[in-house]
Amino acid sequence: MGTYLIAAVAAAIIYRIGREVVGSFRHPEDEELLDYWNDITKTEDRSAYRQISEHLATCEQCRDRLDELRKRPGGPGTHSPLISRRY
Ligand SMILES: [Zn+2]
Repeated sequence: MGTYLIAAVAAAIIYRIGREVVGSFRHPEDEELLDYWNDITKTEDRSAYRQISEHLATCEQCRDRLDELRKRPGGPGTHSPLISRRY
């Protein structure tokens, strides 16, 4: 049991360090882009938020992807217009 715990903690630390280093170089998943757009990442994980910001600043592909996700029916981009059109 103790060994498993140490292994799990070590894996979590390696995962975090790896994510810090690799984070801004890999493309975020759709889900991560949506969380980012909805300010979920901003409140829950500041370092991930910074990484995605940096990534989007340099990656046109992911900016286009985020635009696409926002325009999707039921996506966050359609949320506000629906509210303002209700009346
Ligand atoms: Zn990208």
